[in-house]
Amino acid sequence: MTPPPPPRRRAPNLSSDADTDSTAKVSAPATSPQSGPSKTASPEKGATEPGAGAKGKGGTAGRAKTPMMEQFWRAKDEQPDAILFFRMGDFYEMFGEDAVVVSRELGITLTQRDKGPNAMPMAGVPVRAAEGHLLRLVRKGFRVAICEQLTDPKASKGIVERGIVRVVTAGTITEEDALDARASNYLACASVGAKRAGLVWVDLSTGRLHASECEIAKLPDELSRIAPAEVLLSSGLAAERPELWVELERALGNAGITEREPWRFEREAMARAAKRQFKVKTLEGFGIEDKSEIVPAVGACIEYLEETQKTACEHVRRIERVEPGRFLVLDRATRGCLELVETQRGARREGTLLDGLDTTRTAMGGRLLREWVLEPLCEVDPILHRQRGVAELVEQPFVREELRSILSEVRDLERLTAKISTGRVNARDLVALGQSLAQVPMLKQHLADRYSAILPELDAQLDPLTDVTERIGTTLVDEPPLTIKEGGVVRSGFHTELDELRQIAGDGKTWMAKFQADESVRAGNPGLKIGFNSVFGYFLEVPRGQVDKVPDTYIRKQTIKTAERYITPELKEFEQKVLKAEDLAKDLEYGIFNELRDELSDAVGRILDTARAVATVDCLASLAETAAQNRYVAPAIDDSGELEILEGRHPVIERSAACDSFVPNDTRLDGEQRSLALLTGPNMAGKSTYIRQIALIVLMAQMGSFVPADSARIGITDRIFTRVGSGDDISRGESTFMVEMVEIANILNNATARSLVVLDEVGRGTSTFDGLALAWAIVEHVHGQVGARTLFATHYHQLTELAERLKGVHNLSVAVREWEDEIVFLHKIVEGGTDRSYGIHVARLAGVPPEVLSRAKAVLAEIEGESEHLAPRIAGSASPVAEAQIAEAPVSGPASTPAESASEARPTPSNEPQQLALFAAEPSRVERELAALDPDSMTPMEALLAIQRLKAQL
Ligand code: ADP
Repeated sequence: MTPPPPPRRRAPNLSSDADTDSTAKVSAPATSPQSGPSKTASPEKGATEPGAGAKGKGGTAGRAKTPMMEQFWRAKDEQPDAILFFRMGDFYEMFGEDAVVVSRELGITLTQRDKGPNAMPMAGVPVRAAEGHLLRLVRKGFRVAICEQLTDPKASKGIVERGIVRVVTAGTITEEDALDARASNYLACASVGAKRAGLVWVDLSTGRLHASECEIAKLPDELSRIAPAEVLLSSGLAAERPELWVELERALGNAGITEREPWRFEREAMARAAKRQFKVKTLEGFGIEDKSEIVPAVGACIEYLEETQKTACEHVRRIERVEPGRFLVLDRATRGCLELVETQRGARREGTLLDGLDTTRTAMGGRLLREWVLEPLCEVDPILHRQRGVAELVEQPFVREELRSILSEVRDLERLTAKISTGRVNARDLVALGQSLAQVPMLKQHLADRYSAILPELDAQLDPLTDVTERIGTTLVDEPPLTIKEGGVVRSGFHTELDELRQIAGDGKTWMAKFQADESVRAGNPGLKIGFNSVFGYFLEVPRGQVDKVPDTYIRKQTIKTAERYITPELKEFEQKVLKAEDLAKDLEYGIFNELRDELSDAVGRILDTARAVATVDCLASLAETAAQNRYVAPAIDDSGELEILEGRHPVIERSAACDSFVPNDTRLDGEQRSLALLTGPNMAGKSTYIRQIALIVLMAQMGSFVPADSARIGITDRIFTRVGSGDDISRGESTFMVEMVEIANILNNATARSLVVLDEVGRGTSTFDGLALAWAIVEHVHGQVGARTLFATHYHQLTELAERLKGVHNLSVAVREWEDEIVFLHKIVEGGTDRSYGIHVARLAGVPPEVLSRAKAVLAEIEGESEHLAPRIAGSASPVAEAQIAEAPVSGPASTPAESASEARPTPSNEPQQLALFAAEPSRVERELAALDPDSMTPMEALLAIQRLKAQL
């Protein structure tokens, strides 16, 4: 149902617009031709197709020719892909297709402007409520262009000027309500050259801009790590490199891709744009060579910012060059499986590693810690540099507590400072900035004499900024109002003229109180009051019953139900003086505020550098606090390629309410003798928990954090891969098993000998033997070809056989105590494999009815008897996959693809019996070939050759 129309109020100043409209209400259409924002909003395609049809962009047919609508069309042509918020007095109006889209998306009433040939849909939102609407549209993937009145309607003769002042997009939004205070909001821009790709990402709410260059194939991974809200790509890329495009779309998930014309990445012009922004003659000072692919990416990004913000973004002041290989690589699947910053179910923060580690006290610290979790380091020295700082703060609880209590008083310096540059700062923000900066000298005191190198370094990076704090403190009152044009912002004593004007205005109020008292005595009229309205200013109000006593000097102005209103020359004269003084004071205060803001713009760089150091202190103190609270230890870090964890624990599960007492476990992996652990055990035994805990401990160690263990030695890894079998991804429209295999392919193709590979129940997405065969082959490949340290959890107990065949592969299992017909999970990892899956026991625990359990037991006995031959056959085969596929192939008909056979063979109530028969009746390849021979038509030589061939196959 369409909600009721908003109260439509026309501002008086609109009357100066010759064509203020008459609106006629029409009902919002139930459906619209426009289904929503396109993921790819290219200038060619348009995001909203506003004014489509007769009023289509570019075309002029049917465009109303009033001066105001000409302004509208000019703005629309300037930003054809954006929904245009067109300011008319106290409302933003939308016209044409924009109105239809907004009405549908936000449930706003659709009206109609004009009648006849000029009729067009129209919808509006009040200016004071516009921000919420704008944010909702941007969240839904739309771009919104804001077209403001640029001249004062009171002062303009005829039509007021209008122009677009800003275009708001997902990657450039800076409104506090739209942003998560503890997560960065990145706009990314990638330029793909002949051999390399340049990548830039900027958070406009803080002004931090990063750049890196990488191999083209690594671009999807890099973008996935950065997880931007919006990405700028050349519109030619999809056609030039379709495979890369598909990978990029996959890596970006829900981020919006904004396609820009290829010429917007032209190197020379982009180099100029970048140098203009950073006020430099060459970008080499940032470590960027002229021929680097970063150059076009930076320029294209800067031009987009200028185009959307309509102003130079002064707070984007430098390029932070990120060297490839500095960070441990975590792809999207790994981040998801390990639940680093978001849970897999419900995308929540609670229950993630970040949530468990984050006890930061500032929003900046929260954002930086999130970056540390997503970008662990992979070089020994930088890791130890951080870790030693954490260690010192663990050892010095008093210093840590002091630092943390000072940090609690520090607001979001980065986002407050960014508001100064974008001109959206108010007096309250500046007061908060001043009060926050006042904490910096105290932080410094606690950092100066520390023994770990990083803390004194941070002390040096913290600028006490006392000049800024004092300037704000002496200029502004402690609790200013939200608006900056209504006065009450500047401290008294700061400006002599302002004090004088305030005195007059203040005296005026005293005068008026006295005047009211005197007049009521003079006129013998106790009910007389002074009031004010915007039409005729101050007046005297006399109750109706006492008007006969009113003196002749009173001039009647208005009659209301209960009283008459008068003015007197004396009152008017004083009013002029008071009002003038008030107006002058307000203007003066506004000027003083702007002066302060401009002055602070010069300090933006110093404030941002300090903000980064504050955030780093906060992260170190947070990691120290978490370590102290949870008995974490400092891991030894080296380049050995070994991994030794004693009594390791899962950092999230050990603290979850559901876990009474967590059972710690050891881990020992190296690149040679123990490179691949095969972990078998029943479902629910704790396999996933164990292998994830190892990945998390490695990741935490490489962040510089302490780890949940009694001791740990971590040989650095370059990538962590995790993959859990058969997680559905219906939202992406891909079959479970396909997703699983795509990710396995990614691991097999990209893992190196220095990687850590964590595979959980791989192969579970297909039928038993198919999955077993794949799991087998994958273990062989990871072990033989990749050589990565690997943990492979599986319920295929048949795989334990591999430990005997492959050097470096060893079996682990989860101890289970069997008692009568019950099993108890001990969650203890022990050496050696297991030979049972206990699935039926788990089903009983889950409440499956007894008759189903006993039938399952009977079926299991049958299957185990029938397929006993299978594992030895796989083990003895040179190509287990081929053998297992034979075992699975349908009795007749063409060979099916793995995915097809997966769906055919997956046990379902209706096909299970046939499946059992199928396994039992399945002849081997040799048998089938033998059956196909026709001895009657063979020569002795052919028969001999056939026997040789068959023997070879055996
Ligand atoms: P699996 O992968 O073998 O099916 P999970 O790792 O999912 O098992 O663990 C099953 C349950 O056991 C989880 O609820 C988890 O909280 C609990 N659990 C796992 N490992 C431990 C442990 N070491 N100590 C205590 N509880 C554990």
